[in-house]
Amino acid sequence: MSILYDDINTTTGVPRLTLEVLGWDGGWAEQYVPFKNRGLSPARVTCEHREAYEVAGESGELRADISGRFRHEHPLHREWPTVGDWVAIAPRPTEGTATIHEVLPRRSCFSRKAAGDRTEEQIVAANVDIVFLVTSLDRDFNIRRIERYLTVAWDSGARPIILLNKADVCADVSYYVSEVEAIAFGSPVLALSAATRQGLDVLRDMAPPGITGAFLGSSGVGKSSLVNALLDRPRQTTQAVRDNDSRGRHTTTSRELLPLPGGGLLIDTPGMRELQIWSDDKGLETSFSDVETLVSQCRFTDCTHAGEPGCAVQAALADGTLKQDRFRSYAKLQREIQYQALRQDQSARLIEKNRWKKIAKEVRRIERYKGNK
Ligand code: GDP
Ligand code: ZN
Repeated sequence: MSILYDDINTTTGVPRLTLEVLGWDGGWAEQYVPFKNRGLSPARVTCEHREAYEVAGESGELRADISGRFRHEHPLHREWPTVGDWVAIAPRPTEGTATIHEVLPRRSCFSRKAAGDRTEEQIVAANVDIVFLVTSLDRDFNIRRIERYLTVAWDSGARPIILLNKADVCADVSYYVSEVEAIAFGSPVLALSAATRQGLDVLRDMAPPGITGAFLGSSGVGKSSLVNALLDRPRQTTQAVRDNDSRGRHTTTSRELLPLPGGGLLIDTPGMRELQIWSDDKGLETSFSDVETLVSQCRFTDCTHAGEPGCAVQAALADGTLKQDRFRSYAKLQREIQYQALRQDQSARLIEKNRWKKIAKEVRRIERYKGNK
């Protein structure tokens, strides 16, 4: 069954807006312990206005501001709440308002440089688990751009999944899929079409309950079409929330954390849209084909570039053809990828372990049953 906020809010009794629906899990509960002791409640930020927020939690959807103390203790804007954040609030359900006292440490975040020449970082979305990197299989297809988006994704802490949209207009889909897989460092690659709905079931299964996703990609690749197809209705009509404020005036706000029919959540903020332009237009030098070429020239295929003989990377660093910080960011990306691969590997092993536990239990049950006969 699809659980949408509106159903939850208007249907009496069932189903309740639970924290689990909003993505809460054991990890968050653990992080939350110190705040629980202070009598605060957990809630998730669903929308951000200028210094005012919409949050959702067990007391429903509330309008929230941040406490004076929080403001004082957190001068940096990047520490302020953003869409997707888990926050500790003092709710006033009868008024439909709340005060945010703390922001829980983020698992992932997307940021961009603030407008103007300030170097302050602006966080546009937090706690995205999976970022769907969208590109299209038409003449806009660009492998270097996918590499750049992959770097942005790894930097954020979210897991990337690459979507090749507009498969309906492509004559050789499998060729492009393998081209992309070659640079994807093991991230899943899915060809699909918002137009024909091919592959949409698979996409839906990639955002199961508890998972928060977000879309990233250049304009025109079909992000809005995919979002609408996922939501099963146009995004715009899912927007309006009527709020009854204390003076009885009605205000319409737009939610940017959207529940998906499959049980997952989707973050769709204007900030993510701007990030798309930013990662495209500033020509982020984050595809590492130059370093990759050097690596392929090292004498040993398993060279760690830490002083082995015949290391092309060390040679290039020594003669200045490769800059130190470029190599550092390459190495950082590599570590990130290894870490993610390890994490995936561990969870795969855990699933396998649980499977065997279940089988062992079943075998014991059968043996007992036989023994009783
Ligand atoms: P966005 O800018 O990334 O949000 O892209 P849009 O969703 O606005 O789509 C841009 C254009 O591509 C629109 O004209 C869509 O109708 C078209 N489009 C989107 N998905 C598909 C698809 O799967 N196949 C084809 N042929 N066109 C598509
Ligand atoms: Zn080397």
